[in-house]
Amino acid sequence: MSKTIIVVGAGPAGLSLARGLAGSAHRVVLIEPQGREALADPLPDGREIALTLRSAEILRGLGVWQRIPQDEVYPLREARVKNGASPFALAIGPDKGDALGHMVSNHLIRRALFAAVAEQSNVELHCGRKVVSAKTCPRSVEVALDDGSLLRGDLLVAADSRFSDTRVMLGIDASVERFGHTMMVARIAHPKPHGGVATEWFDHGRTVALLPLAEGMSSLVVTVPDAEAKRIKAMPSLEIESLFAGYLGGQLGQIALVTRPTHYPLAMTYANRFSAPRAVLVGDTAVGMHPVTAHGFNFGLLGANRLAELIAKAPDPGAMRLLRRYALRHRLATLPLYQATLHIVRLFTDERRRARPVRSAVLRLGALPPVRQVMGMLLSGKRAA
Ligand SMILES: Cc1cc2nc3c(=O)[nH]c(=O)nc-3n(C[C@H](O)[C@H](O)[C@H](O)COP(=O)(O)OP(=O)(O)OC[C@H]3O[C@@H](n4cnc5c(N)ncnc54)[C@H](O)[C@@H]3O)c2cc1C
Repeated sequence: MSKTIIVVGAGPAGLSLARGLAGSAHRVVLIEPQGREALADPLPDGREIALTLRSAEILRGLGVWQRIPQDEVYPLREARVKNGASPFALAIGPDKGDALGHMVSNHLIRRALFAAVAEQSNVELHCGRKVVSAKTCPRSVEVALDDGSLLRGDLLVAADSRFSDTRVMLGIDASVERFGHTMMVARIAHPKPHGGVATEWFDHGRTVALLPLAEGMSSLVVTVPDAEAKRIKAMPSLEIESLFAGYLGGQLGQIALVTRPTHYPLAMTYANRFSAPRAVLVGDTAVGMHPVTAHGFNFGLLGANRLAELIAKAPDPGAMRLLRRYALRHRLATLPLYQATLHIVRLFTDERRRARPVRSAVLRLGALPPVRQVMGMLLSGKRAA
């Protein structure tokens, strides 16, 4: 018999789950505060997502990859990490094949996901609506929307961001780590080739990364303390361009700012539980990663895919044993990289002098073949498979 799955939030994770349930007999009710037009044709938000090979495979299986313009998918061949002015670079490449993953703009992923979900006959969309209260009972769930309507179902899925109100309504705590830093992302044009290599270096007082896009185009990612980001936000574009050019020191030639930077204050979150009776957390609501290891959406997609596989054909998608199985597997898949990311961010943003030799030692340790191989597998998503 058909059951009702209520998904709160049509971000990339909520949409991925809804798409994974295509062909299921269950009805999917998707609630999202943004209007239908904004979901169907999202504006660029500055995020260039490093997708693992595994994620691309999942998206292909969902019929979503085929909807992303392939001339806007760029290969990520290698990742290099440097510490300050030291010439040593930890280089991580694929263990086989010629790419670690792909670079795709976030709005293109969201657009493709929405286009696929909008065609599903088992999805009911409530756009422009917010969940204001959520209750779960042993046999059903009940959700109230901001227009006063009440929805009933058999499973509640919280996918409403890392600062999820639904998670709070379910009484699930999360550990939250705020860094006091803001990440600024902007596209730059440059004359020298990037070679498909992503480079990240930890300078004193800031972190700078370059992500390879089209020929002569990269995404520049600069992370600085919040107050400094606020000061930069108020600058005219030409001043920002010359400031950023100074950070790069001419390594890609004379750069030109193509977009003004978009600002993202940084926080990592990890929910204490991923499941509760008749409720489950997916995407950033479960695991809110730091973008430095580029795994937030990769984890969200992987988790949504696993959950969909478990519940799509189950007579009762809210059965606790299924939700517990998802929760355990997703925790095992995400916790090691979450903890590693937390330690990396703390170490590489530690401005005390004694942290510098530790950073160099960590990078040299990372360069040892077995460690580098494990990192290559992690970054291309193979370990999580
Ligand atoms: C600068 C940057 C770079 C990144 N780079 C990468 C990368 O390279 N690789 C990678 O894998 N990840 C990356 N990420 C992470 C990735 O963008 C996120 O993990 C992903 O967007 C999370 O998707 P989500 O659907 O879980 O949450 P969100 O995108 O936050 O979506 C949540 C949705 O819930 C809706 N919502 C909120 N409240 C309610 C409510 N009360 N009722 C109903 N709906 C509600 C919101 O409107 C929103 O649509 C990056 C993030 C940033 C900031």
